[in-house]
Amino acid sequence: MGTRHYDVAVIGAGSVGTPTALALARAGVEVLVVDSGPSVGQGSNKAAIGGVRATHSDPAKIRLSLRTIEIMSGWQETYGQNIEWKSGGYVFVAYTPHEEKVLRDLLVPQHAYGLAIEWLDTRQLLDIVPDLNPRGLIGGTYSPHDGHCSPLLACHAFYEEATRLGAAFRFGERVTGVEVQGGRVQALETNKGVYGADVVVNAAGPWAREMGVLVGLDHPVRPDSHEAGVTEPVAHFLDPMVVDIRPAPGSSNYYFHQLASGQLTFCISPQPPIMGEDCRETSAFLPMVARRMVDLMPRLANLRVRRTWRGLYPMTPDGSPLVGWAREIEGYMVAIGMCGQGVMLGPGLGELLARMITGRLTPDDHEILEILSPYREFAVQETLK
Ligand SMILES: Cc1cc2nc3c(=O)[nH]c(=O)nc-3n(C[C@H](O)[C@H](O)[C@H](O)COP(=O)(O)OP(=O)(O)OC[C@H]3O[C@@H](n4cnc5c(N)ncnc54)[C@H](O)[C@@H]3O)c2cc1C
Repeated sequence: MGTRHYDVAVIGAGSVGTPTALALARAGVEVLVVDSGPSVGQGSNKAAIGGVRATHSDPAKIRLSLRTIEIMSGWQETYGQNIEWKSGGYVFVAYTPHEEKVLRDLLVPQHAYGLAIEWLDTRQLLDIVPDLNPRGLIGGTYSPHDGHCSPLLACHAFYEEATRLGAAFRFGERVTGVEVQGGRVQALETNKGVYGADVVVNAAGPWAREMGVLVGLDHPVRPDSHEAGVTEPVAHFLDPMVVDIRPAPGSSNYYFHQLASGQLTFCISPQPPIMGEDCRETSAFLPMVARRMVDLMPRLANLRVRRTWRGLYPMTPDGSPLVGWAREIEGYMVAIGMCGQGVMLGPGLGELLARMITGRLTPDDHEILEILSPYREFAVQETLK
């Protein structure tokens, strides 16, 4: 039975909670992370395929992801662990004038934030990804500084470093309550103990809403299912993450990249969305995505798929995360609703949360927090959420 007091207790050792613990431990904060899984990253984290891009249209996501890219690209050199980071860039393809317009329009805010992303015509794009189907290809965007990593290796690396710096993790323990007295957080309750805490961070991903209920708040986070897979390994032929945003029956978009092992990993967004927490794979998904991928890249036709899985995006009404202190309860903070981007946002966000908790916010941080405020009006949707 735990009775220790911590400065901060984090709910969830996933894409957000784990790097948050690292940033807090580095700042000298006594932090405890509780997760019901047997080890880090067993929620949405390990379902992700590891795309990390700064090329968003929203300045909050741009800044957080730029910092994540800095952290991830320098990780192996600094800490020695291989998180399979690759600066392979991102390619968004355009086969119709509609996608061309969407992608070109996005370049305006992206350039305004200094992002290295450019429009390439058909020939230039085929220089970067020679295996794209040239028939009907208009062009696309290319952002060379984006990349991809292994979400689970990265989560483990953050966990190891956080632990080395003194962060405590408790696995196999389910959060069952948050004790609040006089409008202030006092403790985190689990099925195994009670831990005193001045601050509780809700980083429970797809299950964030259930944690909100524990303190009487209704966080608008609803999980939906996305399906993914991995192929057999083949000789290296693809550097960037390739994204196709054309809607087709059953799906809105899909993306894929080649892992260091030579395997291709891919993911599709079902349309209409499959709401809920059911993570059993469907038989409809693989034929649908395979057809789309072979159409886009005919040389994939003979590649065999080794494994498929389903995971959850923690969705919000406008496709952007909810980050901030609760106005109703002193000491309760949310870092939830990462949608399809928690791996790329998590490390940058973890550092921001640590600055919030230690009172060291920068002017940029204030701008990010205003955009991601849990109390904002959900009026506008980000184009590529
Ligand atoms: C198929 C697929 C592909 C994806 N690809 C990408 C990608 O390329 N790039 C990208 O950036 N993102 C991607 N994502 C999205 C990404 O996985 C999520 O946005 C991210 O993992 C969410 O992080 P999180 O920390 O909020 O949640 P999680 O990583 O799920 O962590 C939440 C943790 O909270 C724990 N928890 C919940 N309730 C409790 C409780 N009561 N008590 C204790 N612990 C609890 C869970 O066990 C879990 O470990 C993908 C997702 C899917 C499904």
